[in-house]
Amino acid sequence: MRVGIPNFGNSYIAVKAAAQKLDAGDNELVIPPPMTRRTLDLGVKYSPVEACLPYKLTLGSLIEACELGADTLIHARGTGICRLGYYAKGQEQMLHDLGYNAHFLTIDISQHKFRSIMRLIKDVTNGAPWPKIISAFYFAVGKLFALDKIEKVVHKVRALEIDKGTASQIYQEAIRAIDGAPNQREVKKLTRHYVDRLSKIPKNPKASPIKVGIVGEIYVVIEPFSNMDIEVELGKLGVEVHRTMTISRWVKYSLFLNYLGINEWRGVHKLAMPYLDHDVGGDGWESVGEKVLYSRKGYDGLIHLAPFTCMPEIVAQNIMPSTKEDIPVLAVLCDEQMAKQGLITRLEAFVDLLEFRRKRRDGKRA
Ligand code: SF4
Repeated sequence: MRVGIPNFGNSYIAVKAAAQKLDAGDNELVIPPPMTRRTLDLGVKYSPVEACLPYKLTLGSLIEACELGADTLIHARGTGICRLGYYAKGQEQMLHDLGYNAHFLTIDISQHKFRSIMRLIKDVTNGAPWPKIISAFYFAVGKLFALDKIEKVVHKVRALEIDKGTASQIYQEAIRAIDGAPNQREVKKLTRHYVDRLSKIPKNPKASPIKVGIVGEIYVVIEPFSNMDIEVELGKLGVEVHRTMTISRWVKYSLFLNYLGINEWRGVHKLAMPYLDHDVGGDGWESVGEKVLYSRKGYDGLIHLAPFTCMPEIVAQNIMPSTKEDIPVLAVLCDEQMAKQGLITRLEAFVDLLEFRRKRRDGKRA
């Protein structure tokens, strides 16, 4: 078996780490190349025109995995309200039509997620013993937590650094180093090392950065290619970004704490209640609640990332203007038409607006 996965943020590092720790016999992992315009073009060409961007990008990525010889593909499936449940079926059919005889192994991300992932690992490792699977899984998850911890620091440093681009460069080094770390001890050591290096970057001591929350659909929030590196671009403009959604948080709650009855979104859903009192699929309910949350936390603005044609985020986008919480929202529709320069121009105008509002607010207080 040559097992391929679609790209999604740093998730490939965890999959690679687990594969390295498990002896899968003749089975081999195929990681597609980092996403490029070609990945998007392939996805767009072979997807229904109305499909959402995550569908198109993951299809493009899976085609690239097949080109590298993958014959078995791992993908998510679900029973939620959005179209995620149809992804694997539609993409499998398309790959067959293109002549790739790839077999799909799916992970149920609606229910029984932990069991579904464990079962899948068991299958692709020809029945590796459970203690070995659990240990490989924790090692893989440890890398995700380390990378998200470092990235959180990067978000703060980017806004303050004097020499723009230094934090991003160190973060890229950290990704490569943690990817290559052979054990958990080394992962912890590297995490400390990179957090320390980031803390030593020369920063502007007088800066009081504009703070922006990033909300929206999970794929476009986490996968930088799909949002054109929006966090890096905001950092260049001196903006500190914060986002709740990370892969490690998803793992922590969806695979562990949810089973103990702890719902990470309970508070956010409560905040959304006056405006939206039920799940609308995807991450739409959370987007509305997070608008209220970021406003209460005193953030200057909010960026709402929504894939074009994504129904849950369209619902959220239409509700947001009617909330009483006063925080400016920049809605960014992510699709294949999005152009980087256009996005940067919109970000610059948004940041100007936020700076103006802050000056006016501070002037009133003085
Ligand atoms: S939430 Fe939206 S973008 Fe994500 S899979 Fe569902 S429809 Fe597509």
